[in-house]
Amino acid sequence: MDQRVTTTDVRRRIPRTDAVLGDPRLTEAAHRLGPGAVKAAVRRAQERVRAGAIAPDEVADTAVALLPRTAGGLRPVINATGVVLHTNLGRASLSAAARRAVGEAAGPTDVELDLRTGVRARRGRTALAALRERVPSAAAAHVVNNGAAALVLVATALAAGKEIVISRGEMVEIGDGFRLPDLLVSTGARLREVGTTNRTSVADYAAAIGPETAFVLKVHPSNFRVTGFTRAAGTGELAALGAPVVVDIGSGLLAPHPLLPDEPDAETRLRAGASLVTASGDKLLGGPQCGLLLGEEELVRTVSRHPLARALRVDKLTLAALEATLTGPETPTAAALAADPVGLLHRAERLASALGADGIDARAVESAASVGGGGAPGVTLPSAALSLPERYAAALRTGPVPVVGRLEAGRCLLDLRAVEREDDERLADAVRSVGGPVAVDPATER
Ligand SMILES: *Cc1c(COP(=O)(O)O)cnc(C)c1O
Repeated sequence: MDQRVTTTDVRRRIPRTDAVLGDPRLTEAAHRLGPGAVKAAVRRAQERVRAGAIAPDEVADTAVALLPRTAGGLRPVINATGVVLHTNLGRASLSAAARRAVGEAAGPTDVELDLRTGVRARRGRTALAALRERVPSAAAAHVVNNGAAALVLVATALAAGKEIVISRGEMVEIGDGFRLPDLLVSTGARLREVGTTNRTSVADYAAAIGPETAFVLKVHPSNFRVTGFTRAAGTGELAALGAPVVVDIGSGLLAPHPLLPDEPDAETRLRAGASLVTASGDKLLGGPQCGLLLGEEELVRTVSRHPLARALRVDKLTLAALEATLTGPETPTAAALAADPVGLLHRAERLASALGADGIDARAVESAASVGGGGAPGVTLPSAALSLPERYAAALRTGPVPVVGRLEAGRCLLDLRAVEREDDERLADAVRSVGGPVAVDPATER
């Protein structure tokens, strides 16, 4: 036998792609992830043999380790940021019921067909009925892609070529450079600005309303707070002026929330006299990304029959998730908001002592969580966190089960308020997996 293994020998001994693909683990992965992803992993493993990094008989094992974890590029992460509705993490986490509903609606489904008569039916009728049931003061409802789409549709259908009366204190940027005034103007509506940044009275609105007015728009400042010498007009006072009042409540609360007294809700605003309420589905409602339109029958009909409505319509998966959110058990968002700080601290202590027993510098600390971009600016939710050395932050983010925490005073905090209780063990495992020499996850190494 050869004593010296030359480069040529190694090349000759690289297993053929076809042979490696016969490995049952890779055959199964091809069904789950698609053949392209599996072949790419095998090619990368073969290159490692060529580079002398692994032995030829390690190709299959290496390819398995290099496989992507999901068929989609999006990876599930644990939200330990302490921000319940984190926009960069996809806002609301769907309930188990909503996730199941999405799976059940994934194939052919009766989204637009009455199975009893075999005749076409109103798209998403059961989800819309569930929405109306939760908001009794809404005579009608319509669902579009997101909160911004709801506003665009209302402005286009009701105010193109006319005026929207809006307070200067409510000309809001919703994030990433997107500003509601720009969005509204892009529809062909004109903005009639009234009042000042901090103070707008009913008289300001009254003086501006005229034949050109399509509606008065109230926008909830959902991501900032104006305090001090301020004044704003109420929905009821504005409704009394005669023009339709549209209220963008943002957060999607359907009824008042005891812990968030300053957050507007759809039922209360409609009862106060709003003609239409618009909101997001994936903020405090805790559902899928969508935009809700609730209110007077005539206006909802006009809006939902506008040609643009077709371009903004939601898919069956969204309708399924929305209905399951509305009718199902407590959402993860509601659970996170309601979580008792003492219970959170107990969870943190349990985790800290289990990890401490494994030699990890983990402590349980009190912390401050927040609702996030989805609403209730300035509200602090007392919380608890697992405190780890700073170097854990990046390692946890890029580990096999990505965990996103936050840095505070030189420590990595894993805040438990937005972590579902059932995920505590996964969280502990994730910390253990990066606790020793920092592991590199092949899926993020790409
Ligand atoms: C979040 C928000 C929007 C935008 O809703 P998206 O669902 O993100 O499109 C509009 N208005 C207000 C007041 C909001 O809070």
